[in-house]
Amino acid sequence: MDHLKQERISSPGRTKELLREFGLHAKKSLGQNFLTDSNILDKMMAAAAFDAGKGALEIGPGLGALTERLAQAAKTVVTVEIDRRLYPVLQKTIAPYQNVHIVLGDFLKLDLHELWRTYFREDDKVNVVANLPYYITTPVIMKLLEAKLPWEHIVVMIQKEVAERLSAGPGSKQYGSLSIAVQYYCRTEIVANVPRTVFIPEPNVDSAVVKLTLRDRPPVHVENEDHFFAVVRSCFFQRRKTIANNLLGSPFIAKKDVSRQSVESVLRKADIDPSRRGETLSIEEFARLSNTMFKEI
Ligand code: SAM
Repeated sequence: MDHLKQERISSPGRTKELLREFGLHAKKSLGQNFLTDSNILDKMMAAAAFDAGKGALEIGPGLGALTERLAQAAKTVVTVEIDRRLYPVLQKTIAPYQNVHIVLGDFLKLDLHELWRTYFREDDKVNVVANLPYYITTPVIMKLLEAKLPWEHIVVMIQKEVAERLSAGPGSKQYGSLSIAVQYYCRTEIVANVPRTVFIPEPNVDSAVVKLTLRDRPPVHVENEDHFFAVVRSCFFQRRKTIANNLLGSPFIAKKDVSRQSVESVLRKADIDPSRRGETLSIEEFARLSNTMFKEI
């Protein structure tokens, strides 16, 4: 069991050594900041609550720091890396583990249903655990949620500021359409705050680990999800504008040629004052507004 005696991939020494050995420099354009703190990995693994039967999906294994931990805890690990230069590194670092599948490609272009069919069984329980490349945090999270696959937990390291937006409630500066979109699908929890100093190279921002737990059903009933999300996006279009003005200016309403009176009347029917701003509406109020608009406009 040589690999158990060897220093963990996540140690600063081994990270530097691997970069040197393979002649690599981190690519900023791909969000490459390698984590060098085992305590943070402990926290991510504890939040994901693996048991031996569960599968894992990782986005961006890098040198394999988190992949190694996933391989030790999960039945099967699928890890998707865009940077081909890292393949030989991973082949070396992950060599002791037979349960890891490295998929080379852009996560945003993958068909997640096909990936699941290829590597997992229909009734498998799968956690997503990743230290995300920050330039695509939001599209990655939305892709995972919109796929409507039965992920057990999604535990991801992201920019602190985005983590706060995901879990923000009405009335706060961070609250926006991303908060609603994520909270519609899951419960959110910030598991750890992570300083920029534990990465090689250091990013320009601090980070946080968030745990998203999929809800059995959304917290509100909406007649049509696409319509609901379009209403939410419109209401936050310009934060300083009222809901009525934002709705009137949004392409989604403008192309229907609707008058100010009709928009205000629908808002009143939904029991929402047209002069309020989007950031004051709860998810229940957005649902009520969307359901009323869906019927009336
Ligand atoms: N997991 C490693 C760690 O914790 O040290 C590396 C994390 S690093 C923040 C992000 C990783 O995502 C890099 O390895 C990068 O090459 C990879 N990556 C960037 N864009 C990607 C994409 N579109 N699809 C898959 N992987 C991507």
